[in-house]
Amino acid sequence: WDGQDSSIQEEKIFVAVRLRPLNEREISKNDVSDWECINSTTVIFKNSLQERSLLPTAYTFDRVFGHDSPTRQVYEEAAKKIALSVLSGMNSTIFAYGQTSSGKTFTMSGITECTVTDIYDYIKKHRERDFVLKFSAMEIYNEAVKDLLCSDGTPLRLLDDPERGTVVDKLTEVTLRDENHLYELLSICEAQRQIGETTLNELSSRSHQILKLTVESEARGYFGAENSSTLTASVNFVDLAGSERASQTHSAGTRLKEGCHINRSLLTLGTVIRKLSKGRNAHIPYRDSKLTRILQNSLGGNARTAIICTMSPAHTHVEQSRNTLLFASCAK
Ligand code: ADP
Ligand code: MG
Repeated sequence: WDGQDSSIQEEKIFVAVRLRPLNEREISKNDVSDWECINSTTVIFKNSLQERSLLPTAYTFDRVFGHDSPTRQVYEEAAKKIALSVLSGMNSTIFAYGQTSSGKTFTMSGITECTVTDIYDYIKKHRERDFVLKFSAMEIYNEAVKDLLCSDGTPLRLLDDPERGTVVDKLTEVTLRDENHLYELLSICEAQRQIGETTLNELSSRSHQILKLTVESEARGYFGAENSSTLTASVNFVDLAGSERASQTHSAGTRLKEGCHINRSLLTLGTVIRKLSKGRNAHIPYRDSKLTRILQNSLGGNARTAIICTMSPAHTHVEQSRNTLLFASCAK
């Protein structure tokens, strides 16, 4: 891994789209696939019977992945460079965005595993440096932040630290012994999320999960020494709430009836991403939501960001898929 790779432009957000295969339920209902990747960057709407002349039929992104692309490939081509920039001291964030059941968790957990493997491989090969890895995990539901490594469920406060920016007060941060230790912690997080799932209907479709891996490194033998220079950076893996939560704001009636809350973090993230993609001068409203406050240091500036937008190919989901592509287009 060469951290100085110049093919990543500093400020640009890398935007990829991933189509999942039709699932059994969709197939059993004779649903059809509306979308096709015609090359590595363009996805087209191919269902000519449903042609709507006013809507675009082709969408181009940094990378698109069809239903037969394995997660390994998505990682290699859309996430690896950005995630591994943590090794050269740069913060980064990888998001999965898309409607519920489009493949966010499937994609993000695969990308997390691939990154962890590559980071530990790198450490094994670079004996000239000492590394310390730390891990924390949280969930944001309804603008309340919960520690996924601590089961008491108390909402955590955000504090403004003059040096570190926004910090999550009392968030558990575990120093990792090795790669297996991290996998143990990841399964604790998964279990925590599933407990919430059974008590609160569809929790994962309404909550954001942030897994944060911090890498500190120093020339061998110099840890803690005066005037030694430590490189510290974090990579965040963010599995977002279902994007249908954002579009529900357009139907206030439905929202009131369901008693469903507007997902402020998801909406603010959209605004922040759009403004970041437009360039430097805009005021970026990081402070308008918990998610963007927590990620502020890992979005924009010198930080690197990739967004993987996941989509169901099914005709039943065409409206949501269009919304996802619209979000992805705005982030470019
Ligand atoms: P989300 O997190 O967006 O709600 P999931 O990641 O849970 O969606 O995916 C829904 C289902 O579809 C899961 O059973 C998952 O294993 C499957 N799935 C998602 N993406 C793919 C894919 N690219 N290939 C095969 N199966 C997938
Ligand atoms: Mg999920």
